[in-house]
Amino acid sequence: MASVGIGIAVLAIKTAAWWVTGSVALYSDALESIVNVVAGLVALWAVTVSFTPADDDHPFGHTKAEYFSAVVEGALIIVAALLILREAWFAYLTPRSLEAPMLGIAINGAATLINLGWAQFLIRQGRERRSPALSADGRHIMADVVTSVGVLAGLALASVTGWTLLDPIMAALVAVNILREGWHVVTASLSGLMDQAMDPAAEERARALISEHAEGALEVHDVKTRIAGRATFIEFHMVVPELMTVGAAHDICDRIEDALKAEIENATVQIHVEPDSEIKQTGVPIV
Ligand code: ZN
Ligand code: ZN
Repeated sequence: MASVGIGIAVLAIKTAAWWVTGSVALYSDALESIVNVVAGLVALWAVTVSFTPADDDHPFGHTKAEYFSAVVEGALIIVAALLILREAWFAYLTPRSLEAPMLGIAINGAATLINLGWAQFLIRQGRERRSPALSADGRHIMADVVTSVGVLAGLALASVTGWTLLDPIMAALVAVNILREGWHVVTASLSGLMDQAMDPAAEERARALISEHAEGALEVHDVKTRIAGRATFIEFHMVVPELMTVGAAHDICDRIEDALKAEIENATVQIHVEPDSEIKQTGVPIV
């Protein structure tokens, strides 16, 4: 909600900056802020859905909703970039000099500072809470900050040199940079939707935990992990002596499960118990 509120404030300030100068580059920057507001609303919806507990329809929970939001946000970023390119093209065909460029730069600069603080906050929160929606939102606003700084530098240069083409050129550069960022957000989220594994270092740690807590079992193999937003799913086969009681095998399972859940937040562990005839000799050694 704060993201949406800040997005609206920044949008208003940036629109004022465009209004006093008539600069297409500042117009582009303001247009990008509209995307931030819409994207903030989509992210708000996604985070709310992702915290809905598992139900009959979605027994594994709703944590993947955040990837949808990130995909939508990436798509919006790309649309904004195309709109800006279009405006830049028109300004290139009919260049005009800017009114009150320094006032516009100061106004936009204030909005950019607000964005910078908010983007850093969101990126930190996204990392700590492992929330793709918050991260995507933060990275998106950060891209906005970088391009705004470029725009402001370009406009300052244009007003000093009187080179009017610099305005549409800056707008086009803004668009290209936004396109790049949009592409990154979309591909990262799509990878999440495709059941991406834990990152290699974290998975190595999970294997070590399994190995340390599987005393009594003979082998663990076919370890598979997948990340769904905040949730982590881990599954594997555990080979035990054929005559071990179900109770004893279950005790081992509980030990491993507890160890994994103690270190990995929101982990769900599935263990398939097998007799020694299923041994593969290729699995995780038990220490
Ligand atoms: Zn097996
Ligand atoms: Zn159990």
